[in-house]
Order: sequence, then structure tokens, then C-alpha cells
Amino acid sequence: MRSRRRVLGAVHIVVTAGIALAAEATPPTEFAAEREEMVARQIEARGIRDPRVLEAMRRVPRHRFVPDDEAAYAYEDRPLPIGSGQTISQPYIVAAMTEAAGIGPGESVLEIGTGSGYQAAVLAELGARVHSIEIVPELARRARKTLESEGYGRVVVIEGNGWLGLPDKAPFDRILVTAAPDRVPEALVEQLRVGGRMVLPVGENDQWLRVLEKTPDGVRERELFPVRFVPMVK
Ligand code: SAH
Repeated sequence: MRSRRRVLGAVHIVVTAGIALAAEATPPTEFAAEREEMVARQIEARGIRDPRVLEAMRRVPRHRFVPDDEAAYAYEDRPLPIGSGQTISQPYIVAAMTEAAGIGPGESVLEIGTGSGYQAAVLAELGARVHSIEIVPELARRARKTLESEGYGRVVVIEGNGWLGLPDKAPFDRILVTAAPDRVPEALVEQLRVGGRMVLPVGENDQWLRVLEKTPDGVRERELFPVRFVPMVK
């Protein structure tokens, strides 16, 4: 069958026998060796063990979630600029937060701080139903586009302020916050299901990653390790 590939702006559309198919995702082999090495050296070597998380990190094409001129560095052990003064987190941090959240298939997950959309894609790989809120319109628009073209079109990206959560879709099984508030946002605790879990960095200059569990008797919290995220806008 003859197929023709047309590029319309940044959207790739495959036209086969006159029918426009969904945009083609990145071939899994692209940067596969770099991804494999990233997982082995940065993630497994630092103690992340959940095989589902490791597999998700091997699959999501991180280089597609960063600006073109950063793609060559996408698998390095550090955050990278994504425009609008924001960054995509270091791969290890994404893996650690995902493992701490303990995502199961079909669970409903809220992410605050879509950024590039990369963390949201990792959550989607684990079978979660993801809603992600981003306050910078340009980033929300771009993340939506990347997620769609990489096959994660089921992730719902919402432009807005995550301090208030997403009451319409609550309660959530899991909430991940990828910008740092100075204290745990009350609305997010309310929107967590009993039995649910939230992973978030908290603090101003001195930030710690926290895991918060909502039990029938109240909220239990523990701290994981110090981190450095951009501040969460109020
Ligand atoms: N998870 C992202 C990285 C997050 S960077 C990724 O995988 O690429 C933090 C993001 O949080 C930034 O894009 C920033 O604009 C956004 N942000 C900060 N405060 C916010 C708020 N109150 N509501 C929603 N998004 C917010």
C-alpha cells in the first residue's frame, strides 16, 4: 500500500489511500540504547525496583518531550529547560515519584504541573487515567500536542491553577505535584480518595519530597529526600 507522509506545521499526518490516520508515534528504537542506559545507571542503580516503573521509563521517548535543540541531552542525569523558564525534571526524580505513588492500571491520577508532559506520559504508560493541570498556556498547548503525537492522547491537559485541584473530576486515587508549594494545598487533600496517596515536594528554599496517605483516621505523611522544584504558583 502506498502511503504518503505530509507535515502540516508540527503535526504529522499519515495519509494512506486517502484516509488520514492518527499521527505516528516515535519508533521505539529511536534513542532506545540511551534510554536503556538511563534506566540502568540513573534509576535502577539508585534503588528504583518496581519493574513496571522501569519499563515505563524505558518506553517513553523523553527526547520528544524536550525542545529540539535539547533532544541530544534528553537522557542525561539532570533536568533540562523546556521554555517559559520551566524545566523537565531529572529522570530519576520522575521515576522516584512514580514509584512512591504506586500507580495501578485504571487508577485516576491528577498531576499538577504538566510542563513538558513527560511525567504524564509515564503515568499513562502505567495504565493510569491522567488529568494534568498546567498554569502556563504555552506549555499546556505544547504538552497536549506532544502527548497526542506520541500516542498518549488520552491524557487530559487542563490549563489552569493547580492550587485548586480539579473538583469536577475528584476524588483521585493518586495526586502528583511537580512544582513546590510552601505547604500542602488543602484542596488537593480534599480531592484525594480515602486510601489514596499524594506525592509532592514541599518547602521554599529547603524542599523535601513528601508522601501523604489519606486513611479513614486521617492523613499520614512521611518525607523521602530533599529536592529542588520550581515554586508552585499560588
Ligand atoms: N512534570 C513536568 C515538569 C514540571 S515543571 C514534566 O514532566 O515535564 C513544573 C511545572 O509546574 C511548570 O510547567 C509550571 O508552569 C507548573 N506550575 C507551577 N505552578 C503551577 C500551578 N499552580 N498550577 C499548575 N501548574 C503549575
